[in-house]
Amino acid sequence: MAGRRGAAAQPAHPAPVADDRPAIRPPRLPVLRTERPHLAGLPRPALRDRLDAMGIGPAYRADQIFSWLHAHGATTFEAMTSLPRALRARLCAEALARGLEVTAVARSADGTRKLLLRTLDGHAIETVLIPNEGRGYTQCVSSMVGCSLTCRFCATAALGFTRMLATWEIVDQVRRARALLAAEPEGASSRITNVVFMGMGEPLHNFDAVRDAIEILTDERGFGIAGRRITVSTAGIVPLIERFVREGLAERVGLAVSLNATTQAARAHLMPVGRRYPLGDLLAVLGRVPTPKRRRITLEYVLLPGENDTPDDAGRLGDMARRLGCQVNLIPFNPHPFAPYPRPAAHAVETFAGAVRARGAAVYVRTPRGEDIAAACGQLAAGGEEGATP
Ligand code: SAH
Repeated sequence: MAGRRGAAAQPAHPAPVADDRPAIRPPRLPVLRTERPHLAGLPRPALRDRLDAMGIGPAYRADQIFSWLHAHGATTFEAMTSLPRALRARLCAEALARGLEVTAVARSADGTRKLLLRTLDGHAIETVLIPNEGRGYTQCVSSMVGCSLTCRFCATAALGFTRMLATWEIVDQVRRARALLAAEPEGASSRITNVVFMGMGEPLHNFDAVRDAIEILTDERGFGIAGRRITVSTAGIVPLIERFVREGLAERVGLAVSLNATTQAARAHLMPVGRRYPLGDLLAVLGRVPTPKRRRITLEYVLLPGENDTPDDAGRLGDMARRLGCQVNLIPFNPHPFAPYPRPAAHAVETFAGAVRARGAAVYVRTPRGEDIAAACGQLAAGGEEGATP
């Protein structure tokens, strides 16, 4: 997309400024198109409108169908036994409720599970279930097939971008994971309590679908997951963070920002998206989030030996976090074949964390989970791109 076209004919319109910016705008590729609407992608008010437009009433039908889809996880209309038979038949013909195909489930020694899912058009996506310290699971969901960004340390970046996930495809990751847990011996006691948008993709580039998925996940007739137990993680798309705040999402769910470097030059190198949205602008927008909400912002920092792990880095990171009132999540780099970094030594992680803390910032060190099944942060690459053709 980027790049100069040479000095050939002058275009009639002024050409976009040719510079070395990478292609980091949300690619204008469509989401999956299905012949029939998938009803699991509609928040309750939108489902009400849709059914109304189809001439399906009374209004409580929307609530019933919504509960079947999300609270009960129905993937066929036939299973919605409280609906009149004729309505079920009509919905079968005119809408979708089906789930994604689970093509593999990998289980880690630490209890983490990675689900490989196949989309209707044949792409592979991944989602990860991480056991909580106490009860239940935190689920890490994907928002894209591949990723629109090109961060140097991330395995998903190596896949490139294929397309945005539709709302129902995001929600269905939770439906499928919940069904998987329900089928296990622990059964109903193993609940998904938290959802983090930290899987494949940049969630803010898929804003509408992510917002609608949050709507469904937090609806008490849907999954009933409290907003404070949901976190959206972004690489720092400044105007979309502004939108996140403007649309009230910052008040409802947590925001994590992948900072990963403490100078503009280092960040732009590691995360080419940082060239378009410089560190200064990013910190400024975070600073404009009103204080109580800012406590809900986490600064993520993947520790890359020899790249962003000097004492000066630790000092700057600590200062930024303290000034903003954000917590730091330090993520020791999880090695994978697509990036040249080694795993940082445990003592180096502790030293770095200590130096950040010494500046008065709260630091949490994230222990890698599910590493033996390549399910840890930055290792999601959907087993290569097998089965990527429809
Ligand atoms: N695009 C979003 C969502 C992905 S979250 C974002 O950038 O926030 C993935 C998190 O894992 C990010 O904080 C990223 O910095 C981190 N990460 C990526 N690759 C990693 C790796 N190999 N080891 C550890 N953390 C990694």
